[in-house]
Amino acid sequence: MAVETDAAVVAVRAANLRGTVGAATLHCPEPRSHSVIRRALFLLVLAFPTWAFAAPAEKISELLRPADTIEAVQVHPSIWRASGNSNAFIVATDDGLVVIDTGLGPQAAATHAALRAVSDAPVRKLILTHAHADHIGGVGLWQTDGVETLAARAFALRNQYYADLRPFQARRSRVLWADVMPEGAEEQFPYPRVTVDRYIDVDTMMEVGGVTFHLLVTPGGEGPDSLSVWIPDWKVLFSGDTLGPSTATFPNLFTLRGENMREAVPMILTLERMAELEPEMLLTGHFDPLVGADEIAPMLRRTAAAVRYVHDATVAGMNEGKSLWTLMREIELPDELAVSEQYGRVAWGVRAIYESYTGWFRYESTTELYDVPHFEVYPELVALAGGPDAVGQAAMTKILAGKPLEALHLAEAALTVDPKHRGGLTAAMLALRSLAAEDGGTNFQVAGWLRARIRAADAALAELDSDDSAAD
Ligand SMILES: [Zn+2]
Repeated sequence: MAVETDAAVVAVRAANLRGTVGAATLHCPEPRSHSVIRRALFLLVLAFPTWAFAAPAEKISELLRPADTIEAVQVHPSIWRASGNSNAFIVATDDGLVVIDTGLGPQAAATHAALRAVSDAPVRKLILTHAHADHIGGVGLWQTDGVETLAARAFALRNQYYADLRPFQARRSRVLWADVMPEGAEEQFPYPRVTVDRYIDVDTMMEVGGVTFHLLVTPGGEGPDSLSVWIPDWKVLFSGDTLGPSTATFPNLFTLRGENMREAVPMILTLERMAELEPEMLLTGHFDPLVGADEIAPMLRRTAAAVRYVHDATVAGMNEGKSLWTLMREIELPDELAVSEQYGRVAWGVRAIYESYTGWFRYESTTELYDVPHFEVYPELVALAGGPDAVGQAAMTKILAGKPLEALHLAEAALTVDPKHRGGLTAAMLALRSLAAEDGGTNFQVAGWLRARIRAADAALAELDSDDSAAD
């Protein structure tokens, strides 16, 4: 993927941007230049084939693929896993079943049916690893008479928090994942409010049908309410989303959809503690089991070390007086700790750590303390600079210089004056495509965001074109 992305950047910068779009830049403000711009755009579209926006090659993209069929698969002599977009498990004991997580709402009935086809023994315990919707969708199906539901103490607040912010987060998620989140899905499968019989405050041992379960309070990569389940006799660890949805990526300390930031230090301590258990099987909240003590503990330690490195570098930089922006640019994992950034990213981890430690006042401008954001004075600045045409031109110059973020700042300034300004929209669209080519294939979340913004810019430009043809 890296090779293809590099090729796209080189192709666009060298062949198209410096040639045809350069011509478009010269003509941008003039009305008769539209065909030149359109030709430039066409060439750019050819230069950014769809794979520039394709999901990362690794498995994280499968989180959004609707599960066709849900089957229960035996992963251990006494454990079955049903995997839709998330995993649900049953553990068979001499006295009935222990259920761990229940799947995503739309898949919960199939998940329940698949696991019940394996065993119709009575259910004794329902353990919820955390309050994310994709793990508690089927709670109502399992909470029959005599079932005790257990969750970490922090689950109660998280269940309330996700319910309170449901409209906000669903709206934002729909921007990122428009293709798989149709409008109205929330009404059909509302976020469940769960009645928990027993909250777990500290690590707790429990015995069911001759099997000993340790319920471990493991605040981690998806929030403070992570509860893991350790079966010491079998050396099996159910980790829910303590590591995040995937063990193959830097953890997601920050989500684009707008959850509060995850704390690095509790996660580091949790991962180190999990490694000390020396699990032989790791059953995560998504994707396949990891098997082998030789694989699991080193992976846990390496992930912990990567988060610790970013944490310590961020804190050191803060104490040295470096700005947030400098730290986001400077901090990189050393080669021996390098991990995929397809879900979480190191730079966002830096920012999450910085802002969760300091809040939002960065001491950069007094205006940060008040309710007038910088873009409210853009119209005056744009007028002083000669109007949106001039600023759109400046944005194009930045595109040609290979500075898409600077171009985007300028384009957005021009668009505050005239949201339908062709030069501003064109520069914004080119900047977004350039970012997508460099960046969109490497991270699942930013790819979704860029795809949505490109669609919006393309739609605005198409509307201008149709207005022009109607006027001709
Ligand atoms: Zn999950």
